[in-house]
Amino acid sequence: MYIGNHLSSSKGFENMGKEALKLDANTFAFFTRNPRGGAAKAIDNEDAIKLRKLMKEHNFGKLVAHAPYTMNVCAAKEDIREFSWNILKEDLQRMEYLPDNYYNFHPGSHVGQGGDAAIPVIADAVNSALMPEYTTTVLLETMAGKGSEVGRNFEEIRAILDLIKLPDKVGVCFDTCHVWDGGYDIVNDLDGVLKEFDRIIGLDKLKAVHFNDSMNVCGSHKDRHQKIGEGEIGLEALKAVATHPLLKGKPFILETPNDDEGYKKEIALVRSFDNGEV
Ligand code: FE
Ligand code: FE
Ligand code: ZN
Repeated sequence: MYIGNHLSSSKGFENMGKEALKLDANTFAFFTRNPRGGAAKAIDNEDAIKLRKLMKEHNFGKLVAHAPYTMNVCAAKEDIREFSWNILKEDLQRMEYLPDNYYNFHPGSHVGQGGDAAIPVIADAVNSALMPEYTTTVLLETMAGKGSEVGRNFEEIRAILDLIKLPDKVGVCFDTCHVWDGGYDIVNDLDGVLKEFDRIIGLDKLKAVHFNDSMNVCGSHKDRHQKIGEGEIGLEALKAVATHPLLKGKPFILETPNDDEGYKKEIALVRSFDNGEV
């Protein structure tokens, strides 16, 4: 399987690849810039090439880059919205230095505008940033529904996808903590949840998994991640997710509260679920 965690991009691309190898990971996530925002560093193309080589040599799965948390493309305030559209545009240009990977973002928070008003704005942002020649697939993350988050259920994700002009270049990142917190019972009815995902969005759109336990109960809309097996979702249910035939071969990204040693152990744990098969 393809499993990894979030790595810090501050030391460069190739070093993230080396870091992943140390953790016995074969994919990873990274913030395209400081997660709290700010300007992005210039891309070092030599460094990007070295990472691509390392990934090829070690049979890595696709990377799942993550947009900064400050990016809210449907923000009510004009200046934040414009800043966010620019980040999205610039990040997608930059992703082309690492071709054929995933770029995941939170659809956004509508802060009082209502989800229905925000949905077309989110789609417009993607439509303005995503070019036909790009090799990146843009992923919308399923959200816990905290505050005014858009993407709180499969219907909202589908509504955004329906307005995208390059549908083959967009997909969904299934966050187990968020889906659970959003009210989908993956503990008692994983098959039912995946069936619902298929009915509303289509399983062909499910490209990556954010693999997290949750501190809270199903439907809590809290978004507090927990270590695998130590939260309300629990080990058995997460094992069922990791070994589910419909999710086979997708990159699984851990976003659990761990240090390096903890991630190394957790990666080994998840690998033990399916005996290391991809
Ligand atoms: Fe996220
Ligand atoms: Fe996530
Ligand atoms: Zn989360």
